Amino acid sequence: MSTETHTCTQCGVAGVKLWRAAMSLSPLWCAQCGTAQAGLENTVDAAGCIQGKYGPTDQIYNPERGVNLLPFCPVGDTAWGYTSVPPEDVAAWKALPTAPEETP
Ligand SMILES: [Zn+2]
Repeated sequence: MSTETHTCTQCGVAGVKLWRAAMSLSPLWCAQCGTAQAGLENTVDAAGCIQGKYGPTDQIYNPERGVNLLPFCPVGDTAWGYTSVPPEDVAAWKALPTAPEETP
């Protein structure tokens, strides 16, 4: 799997963990833009987990805003459904950096 061709729709960052809306492949969000979209503080950790109402989760979820973003694990021209992502693709997603490298 390669996610290098996928970028955050809002800020254009590539090579990082991306999230998508549940029923859509576009736009895509990085952790920073996704949490902003959901009106949440960006507390996404290196594993891609954020502290949710019910504990740590890899979904960026804010029911008050109607925002529920899922990890984006591409397969060909589409993406795996949240519950059907193969373990190796979950691992590949988790291995991506959460935020782009800081450029001094
Ligand atoms: Zn972004």
